[in-house]
Amino acid sequence: MSELIRKNASELVQMLAKGEVSSVEVTQAHIDQISKVGDAVHSFLHLTTENALAVAKEVDRRRAAGESLPALAGVPIAVKDNLTTTDAPTTAGSKILEGWIAPYDATVVTKLRQEMMPILGKTNLDEFAMGSSTEFSAYGPSKNPWDLTRIPGGSGGGSSSVVSSFQSPLAIGSDTGGSIRFPGAVTGTVGIKPTYGAVSRYGLIALASSLDQVGPVARNVLDAALLQDVIGGYDPRDSTSLKDSLGSMVEAAKSGSLKGKKVGVIKQLSGAGFQQGVQNRFAEALKIITDAGAEIVEVDCPSFEYAIDAYYLILPAEASSNLAKFDSVRFGMRVTPEGNPTIERVMAATREAGFGPEVKRRIILGTYALSAGSFDKFYGAALKVRTLIQRDFDAAFAKADVLVSPTAPTTAFKFGEKVADPLAMYLNDIATIPANLAGIPGISVPIGLADEDNLPVGIQFLAPAHKDAALYEVGAALEGILEGIWGKRMMDFAPKLEGN
Ligand code: GLN
Repeated sequence: MSELIRKNASELVQMLAKGEVSSVEVTQAHIDQISKVGDAVHSFLHLTTENALAVAKEVDRRRAAGESLPALAGVPIAVKDNLTTTDAPTTAGSKILEGWIAPYDATVVTKLRQEMMPILGKTNLDEFAMGSSTEFSAYGPSKNPWDLTRIPGGSGGGSSSVVSSFQSPLAIGSDTGGSIRFPGAVTGTVGIKPTYGAVSRYGLIALASSLDQVGPVARNVLDAALLQDVIGGYDPRDSTSLKDSLGSMVEAAKSGSLKGKKVGVIKQLSGAGFQQGVQNRFAEALKIITDAGAEIVEVDCPSFEYAIDAYYLILPAEASSNLAKFDSVRFGMRVTPEGNPTIERVMAATREAGFGPEVKRRIILGTYALSAGSFDKFYGAALKVRTLIQRDFDAAFAKADVLVSPTAPTTAFKFGEKVADPLAMYLNDIATIPANLAGIPGISVPIGLADEDNLPVGIQFLAPAHKDAALYEVGAALEGILEGIWGKRMMDFAPKLEGN
């Protein structure tokens, strides 16, 4: 295996700047890895490796000519397939959009192109980002490189598996209820959901617009910071985009410290219901955090008990409305039934054939929750819970700078374990959903392997809105201490896939 693919983005940046390696070499090394492990892991839905090599070539030419280049120029990246790109299809993991090519790039993609990052391809996801395992992708699941019989998390399992199997040093994800953080936790990678509005949603195929947020996927905190600094910032094309600057995430990661920080352990998200190995690693992490000079306080968030219920009403309600545009007229698939193909029958036949079971379930649930007779009882009640959760966070952040919990109740589960039981799948989101309901940022950082199965465990830090930098600060500090204890990085423990 080429050593180049084991390098983090920040290391590649330095090697490229010093002329120790060319961007074409770096990009080609990752393309080689894609051809070795791509079939086994199934992270990509579409490859754009030729375009990636062309960008790499241009970076090398400019560098040779002594021209100045953006910070991450020449470092390859992969993009979740719910962000539009003009040079490859955007399917959101759905049959209804099979082969659909968007007429414009998402703002995040435009920023990656301006940064001159070679985009290797588009990564797999649960259909329209609904799910926690990629089992709901219409194109088949991605695999967890630590154990190919297990899920890589979802919905962004394509992005997490791409980065954890060294097919790309960086990837972009989207997080509506945990789809960046949960895949990060179960693949031993770092995933961040920035503050709502910190990264443009223009060109992101909306799942639930009030919860969706685009963010970085990486193998360490500094790399994620480099990427958030590139993709973040105000976008006039997104009406919810934040106008104020959140500062430099790279500076925050580099000055990482836990000293003097008040770290709030969320009472409702620790202990009971969490796998023993997850609890053990979490307890150890808390001890390390204390030893590093932070003060642990307990915070009470009683309304979190209803977070899943509220989320699984608000999300389907918004999703049922967002997905109404897939009507056989404007985008993608069209199925014309035999007999008398009225517009209604064409729409119905197209949506019947084009949407998978989880999408249909949520459209039905959302439409019902919004219907005149149930609006107050379901949707209205869920909005009230959302406000209570926001208040719980306000009270918690009055006592602590950042909050912590395990990112997920379990390590990566096996394929087939939860897919037939929607509720079991939903319960998995217990720790990640509150941040989306409140619009606050969250990060998942690997903290080791669970005793019972040797699979990665993640810790989640949460910060008040606009304080994304605080996450990079504490995340980088903890990561640095753990690396010191283990003597190597978490990803060095990743079993090598056959063919590596
Ligand atoms: N598991 C969550 C869901 O199915 C995650 C969604 C997301 O973040 N895209 O809704």
